Amino acid sequence: MSRPLRVAVIGSGPAGVYASDALMKSGRDVRVDLFEKMPAPFGLIRYGVAPDHPRIKGIIKSLHRVMDKEQLRLFSNVEFGKDLSIEELKELYDGVIFATGAVGDRELPIPGADLPQHWGAGEFVGFYDGNPLFPRDWDLSAESVAVVGVGNVGLDVARILAKTADELHVTEIPDNVYETLKTNQAKEVHIFGRRGPAQAKFTPLELKELDLSPTIQVVVNGEDIDYDEVSAQHRRDSKITDQVCQILEMYAMRDLQDTPHKIYIHFFESPVEILGEEDADGNRKVVGFRTERTELDGKGGVRGTGKFTDWPVQAVYSAVGYRSDALPGVPFDTKKHVIPNIAGRVILSDATGDESAPHITGLYTTGWVKRGPVGLIGNTKGDANETVACLLEDFDAERTFTPTKLDDDAITALLNDKGVDYLTWDNWHALDAFELASGEAEGRERKKVVEWDDMVAASKK
Ligand SMILES: Cc1cc2nc3c(=O)[nH]c(=O)nc-3n(C[C@H](O)[C@H](O)[C@H](O)COP(=O)(O)OP(=O)(O)OC[C@H]3O[C@@H](n4cnc5c(N)ncnc54)[C@H](O)[C@@H]3O)c2cc1C
Repeated sequence: MSRPLRVAVIGSGPAGVYASDALMKSGRDVRVDLFEKMPAPFGLIRYGVAPDHPRIKGIIKSLHRVMDKEQLRLFSNVEFGKDLSIEELKELYDGVIFATGAVGDRELPIPGADLPQHWGAGEFVGFYDGNPLFPRDWDLSAESVAVVGVGNVGLDVARILAKTADELHVTEIPDNVYETLKTNQAKEVHIFGRRGPAQAKFTPLELKELDLSPTIQVVVNGEDIDYDEVSAQHRRDSKITDQVCQILEMYAMRDLQDTPHKIYIHFFESPVEILGEEDADGNRKVVGFRTERTELDGKGGVRGTGKFTDWPVQAVYSAVGYRSDALPGVPFDTKKHVIPNIAGRVILSDATGDESAPHITGLYTTGWVKRGPVGLIGNTKGDANETVACLLEDFDAERTFTPTKLDDDAITALLNDKGVDYLTWDNWHALDAFELASGEAEGRERKKVVEWDDMVAASKK
């Protein structure tokens, strides 16, 4: 085809940016419009990665190089499903790539999960990372806290709860987060995993740095270090698993130190119930967390032992996974919480697992909403390449949409007609400069703007 390939990418997290990059590197004449519902781009790098991980947050700088390219336009503050529909996009683009990620928390299905001091990790992350869609303050009165889930998000939550507000002040956290963290009473954070060290989902770097703060000691009970033959084989097969186990063994062997904050990592404790009671005013509150001891079953799983423990905690955070949301007019697998697809080509929701299922013309997906909320930022690159290869193949075979409005300005005219207050890449540069300057004034690298309207206003300065 002699005209440029036109693609709309929905979601400007790493998956959306890497998909845009793959399109632009394909050697084709291509125009990419990237739509983002938040006023600022970069998805969970901005609103998920912990503020005390500046190296990871710094990936944004390498994404800047992609976004700076002329063939790519950013339209943030534009929500697919509210401001734009599939029918509208079909008239303007050859294909649409959904890279809408995951924001919600998976539920912890145990009694007591409805108690007020039980939160999904994602809610707390949204708070401390200054996401305007989450609360501005947080109840941090608990001295002992349970974190359910042995993955990196559980480590983030535990670390932020165990660090002092002043340790975090050097990061990009906004003022409301710093002021709230100053009220934090947590002295003990207990992380719980149902299975053993060889089944933990931590990555070695994140597990090791948990202990870098002088105010924190990480403690593992020697009795929780246990492997059956399947676990031992898993260690032999996976360098990462072996490193994680070695770090946990090191934590288990050390003497207790006199640090003000402890993070305990417990294995073989399966969540049973969040215990609550009513205070004199009739308010329900968390008073404990009940677990059942488990043991390895020799097949890589665990079984209950019937031995229960009640841990005296006053708050519980469940870090048991994120969850994607369905998008209007786009198939959704309500069991796996992903857009059903084969190699990134969207298929009907009831066709998941059917390799011959027909592709829905013009629709593609990538990133966490394509394969579920697991994996690091770098993993979304491979996803994007696979998806883009399918789109290019379909375009060549004339199996994509047949857009009729091929004018570069058609999208801006449509958004203007609809009264959508969209922001552009230049607007992000203005917000970025504002945040960097606010940080610099306090000797910090950046200070985030939180309120939606303030973000929009700073973007237009
Ligand atoms: C708490 C936490 C900490 C993490 N820490 C690390 C880490 O330290 N290192 C690491 O490598 N990985 C980390 N990850 C994983 C990493 O964030 C993910 O691998 C990655 O962000 C997934 O990319 P994505 O683009 O698929 O999704 P997201 O990053 O979620 O991006 C999706 C984007 O789509 C937008 N969007 C959603 N719906 C719409 C819509 N309807 N219209 C327009 N836009 C929409 C969202 O606003 C968002 O910007 C962490 C994840 C979490 C949850």
